[in-house]
Amino acid sequence: MFPMRLGQFASLAGGSVVRGNPQSIVNKVVFSLQERLNPQSIKLIHPAKSMERQLSYLRQQRSGVVVTVPSLKNHIPKHLMLITVASLKRSLWKVCAWQRNHSKATFIGITGSSGKTTTKEMATAILMRRYRTLKSQENMNIASLMHYHHLRLDSRYQVAVLEMGMKTLGDIRQQCVVARPTIGVVTCVKEAHVGHLGNSLQNVVRAKQELVDGVKPGGILIINADDPGVRKLRVNPKKHRVLTFGTRPGATYQATHIRYTKQGMEFNLGKTQYHIPIWGEHNVYNALAAIAIAKQLKVPDPIIKDALRKFPVPKMRLQRVPGKNRRLLINDAYNANPSAMIAGLDVLRKVSGPSFSVAVLGSMNELGSHSTKGHLQVGQRVAATRPRLLVTVGNEGKKIAQGAISAGFPRNKVHTFPNQPNVVASFLNRHVPPGAVLYFKASRSLKLEHIVNRLK
Ligand code: ATP
Ligand code: MG
Repeated sequence: MFPMRLGQFASLAGGSVVRGNPQSIVNKVVFSLQERLNPQSIKLIHPAKSMERQLSYLRQQRSGVVVTVPSLKNHIPKHLMLITVASLKRSLWKVCAWQRNHSKATFIGITGSSGKTTTKEMATAILMRRYRTLKSQENMNIASLMHYHHLRLDSRYQVAVLEMGMKTLGDIRQQCVVARPTIGVVTCVKEAHVGHLGNSLQNVVRAKQELVDGVKPGGILIINADDPGVRKLRVNPKKHRVLTFGTRPGATYQATHIRYTKQGMEFNLGKTQYHIPIWGEHNVYNALAAIAIAKQLKVPDPIIKDALRKFPVPKMRLQRVPGKNRRLLINDAYNANPSAMIAGLDVLRKVSGPSFSVAVLGSMNELGSHSTKGHLQVGQRVAATRPRLLVTVGNEGKKIAQGAISAGFPRNKVHTFPNQPNVVASFLNRHVPPGAVLYFKASRSLKLEHIVNRLK
């Protein structure tokens, strides 16, 4: 939405002009994001890996303004205009807020313990058929990464769909202060990422409440009707229109006739039947949230249906991968928390039917002192869903094995491994028969896809 005058921009960013004429016009702004003087780790908005590449990027810019902290000013090529600010983060937020205030787009914020990215991708797949839609990229969902989306805004965008996650309390509030969403979505509220939050569901509820409170007055809240955690949120029907989604009667968007197909799920909403190319009842919930958003923005049913049917499944979320020996590998290894892993075990049971099924489950990080309880709970679910084999990976993963065995799962069907992809893959190759279905899930840091890749 630039250009504006350099002096104007400096006051917007809350800094002072070190170099350049305050009356000159700014066309391009580059922030240096590292506040400490450590040339190896200077980060610019334009991703670049090494300091040399970053400086060479800057040198190539014929004009433009660099915003940085005073300690870095000597690194900035002399031909570029320069503004220094006390805090890059705060200054970036101010610029983002300015961009947002000059945008006519409808802003949608999506939060929840799981399902944010999937819901965002489903919603954008639909909305982009009708509107120029900006979506937050990949999994960039915390306040300190907001600029990646906001600075791409221009006057042509009609809708912006933002995933709002958090590292600490206050993170979502900050995102809402900048984005001022008119529609807020809460997918579910579970004990995920509790490690960051002093270990309580209560704190997760408090964090998600920040979105509920952050939606503009007169805006719309779209929340999961079936999730006990969501019911703990305080909503104010005088301030917001509250719409719910779920499977029980009474929900504004109630899915019925939910069933698994070869390719994904089918369900009905009223008389309309929808199909999504991804398994799992939890993904029906995500689709319901996306449909609710689309309907608020008046997208016609046939478009919603078609877009959902073809929606591009985000990588490593219940991704179907053909394996050697006619095995089916379900790569759900993007990330994990107990409720997501439990949902995945249900998918494995449904999809494998009578076939030989294997759950390959690794440690879940970010659970803090809830870790033991969370892993044991997953183990209990293994015992209830009864895959033919349980393979655990990593140290914390062993607690899943413990939980399963203590809930009656046969000890001789449990195998625990350290995180060594070669060893696990060769074990699976030797012990899993042709035609089996294998499900993979763990926290991101375990990178279970290395095992999946060895079985392809
Ligand atoms: P992150 O916090 O890592 O950004 P996210 O909220 O964006 O996660 P997704 O990436 O959409 O979530 O999904 C991650 C995993 O969570 C999926 O692989 C699936 O196992 C599980 N999941 C997705 N949606 C739901 C849901 N509505 N309820 C429970 N689990 C879900
Ligand atoms: Mg995500």
